Amino acid sequence: MPDLADNADSVVELWTADAERRARGKSAPESDPGFDGLNCVTCLEPIPTARLKMGKIRCVDCQERLDMANRMTRRR
Ligand SMILES: [Zn+2]
Repeated sequence: MPDLADNADSVVELWTADAERRARGKSAPESDPGFDGLNCVTCLEPIPTARLKMGKIRCVDCQERLDMANRMTRRR
């Protein structure tokens, strides 16, 4: 069970990872051969327009799951 400090840390990390992606996205936009420009590449649910404008190719749920997986493979 994560304690409160761990929890706060992971929120900061999530935010930082997202900021990093946005910064990198300027030179290399996130893309996927299967992305149709409207729907999440993972679950095919429609992505909200606001997210599409940010260059996202996944819905919030799938993005969170991916971020979580990335965090687990990138142990400190
Ligand atoms: Zn999705």
